[in-house]
Amino acid sequence: MVHGELILMGPPGSGKGTQARRLASRPGWLHLSTGDLFRENLRNGTSLGKLAEQHMSKGEYVPDDITVEMVRERMRQVAPSVHVVFDGFPRTVPQAEALDALLAEHGRRVARVILIDVQREELVARLAKRAEGRSDDSPAVARKRFDVYQEQTRPVIEHYDRQGLVCRIDGIGTIDDVQERIAAAVS
Ligand code: AMP
Repeated sequence: MVHGELILMGPPGSGKGTQARRLASRPGWLHLSTGDLFRENLRNGTSLGKLAEQHMSKGEYVPDDITVEMVRERMRQVAPSVHVVFDGFPRTVPQAEALDALLAEHGRRVARVILIDVQREELVARLAKRAEGRSDDSPAVARKRFDVYQEQTRPVIEHYDRQGLVCRIDGIGTIDDVQERIAAAVS
């Protein structure tokens, strides 16, 4: 297994959440999903949760400073022996730069960025199926989330490509198929 932190990236509907959870289920790994942290805050009725919801319900990103501060706080509680699988973070270039600096403060570094590649048509079909479960998966909001991804998160891939850290994985197939490809990429 690679030494360092992992970032799981992929467009909405690519299955990155499922894969990140599986990858982090190995001993010594922690799954850190900013989407999950926002939803947890919302369930607990915190002011952060209420603020995040205003953006999430529209399919927009939560502002960088709020998101980075939440990750900074969470990272303080991670034992030095534990490695992190980041899921849904960083989503913008300023977040990526903040993460690079934050990890360096902890003596950590990004070991690999796993990008789950799925064509747009397949994503739209998958999101339509998932629509019952999540309020931000309604067709209009799902489309918006996809556009925001293209606009703001694509440049993050370039940021890590420049560092030679990105590994592209074919996201078509069963959950197990994709998991095997990811396991091979990080072994
Ligand atoms: P996710 O569960 O990762 O798909 O995230 C759900 C929603 O939470 C996103 O559509 C955003 O509104 C918000 N969110 C999650 N992670 C971030 C992030 N890194 N930056 C900004 N907003 C985020």
